[in-house]
Amino acid sequence: MATVELDGVSKAFGTQNAVAGVSFTVEAGQLVALLGPSGCGKSTTLRLIAGLEPATGGTIRIADRDVTQAAPSERGVSMVFQSYALFPHLSVAQNIVFGLEVRKVPKAERARRLERAAGILGLETLLDRKPSQLSGGQQQRVALGRAIVAETPVCLMDEPLSNLDAQLRLDMRREIRGLQRRLGVTMIYVTHDQVEAMTMADRIVLMRAGHLEQHGTPEELYNRPATVFTARFVGTPPMNVLPLASLGEAAARLAPAGRDPAGVSIGVRPEHVRFAGNGFHATVTSVEYLGADSLVDVRLGGHPFIVRVPGRTGLGEGQSIHLEWDGSHEHFFDTESGRRI
Ligand code: ATP
Repeated sequence: MATVELDGVSKAFGTQNAVAGVSFTVEAGQLVALLGPSGCGKSTTLRLIAGLEPATGGTIRIADRDVTQAAPSERGVSMVFQSYALFPHLSVAQNIVFGLEVRKVPKAERARRLERAAGILGLETLLDRKPSQLSGGQQQRVALGRAIVAETPVCLMDEPLSNLDAQLRLDMRREIRGLQRRLGVTMIYVTHDQVEAMTMADRIVLMRAGHLEQHGTPEELYNRPATVFTARFVGTPPMNVLPLASLGEAAARLAPAGRDPAGVSIGVRPEHVRFAGNGFHATVTSVEYLGADSLVDVRLGGHPFIVRVPGRTGLGEGQSIHLEWDGSHEHFFDTESGRRI
């Protein structure tokens, strides 16, 4: 098992800083999700760790060894890409051991590793097929097989499930998580899907515009978001964040000690709001019924606001309602900087 440490790692493409001084440590045997919106630099960060791109600044250490200048093959990492990158003319078995052949691993050892990986992934009966004769989920397993036979202490994954349908994604998420635990590898997993990050990761590194926005456990990011950006990126639907002043007279009472309510925003998650006999007055703008619960869009103090309630509501557009929530579920942010107070 190996730790992965990034210290002030940067990557510039021309004048653009794709990754700007990112530092975090992945403990041995942990699964860390690199999460963020499109273009935030998560794939580039993964490629820097893999050695597929040279860093323009900072240090990368794997298993306590400085690998910043090392070739990809010397870093002890395997990588699974979104595209699977399978060779169409090779069989499943040949695809899985391809990298071992390149590295001149002896034949008997290749056979041993292939048998083990095929067993783990349930590919035993498919070894002679070509990738075109496999389903998307099976192709994904072959790509995972390659990473397993490499037997590296670190495995890097770049959006490996984005080509799969929703049900298969759910199954493969569990499978990858189980595999990571069983093999004891350190895994860094790139995704833009916060549900994937929340359900799979021991810790999440949330990135924004080349910077690290917040690093913590899924619970920390959900319960104590450091910024409005994190608050709204983690959780669906996103946290309601509105100027405290839009709550009228209550603003002065709710404002954190010593803060002028005028510069403060309040955040409340849709699932923490309930209907009440009295409380904040709001007007329903639309209702979305999801089965287990409903999302009620309202306007509160002139701002759009979402309430998540169990089952059906019987509410309709234009209806007047009152809302309340517990003080323990309030989050306060500095409106100008977006930082948590
Ligand atoms: P996505 O989820 O869309 O893949 P990402 O968070 O993985 O996004 P990156 O692919 O790391 O983002 O890209 C970060 C930024 O760096 C983007 O603005 C991108 O346009 C830029 N970039 C990435 N690779 C290159 C390259 N080879 N040359 C120039 N710019 C690049």
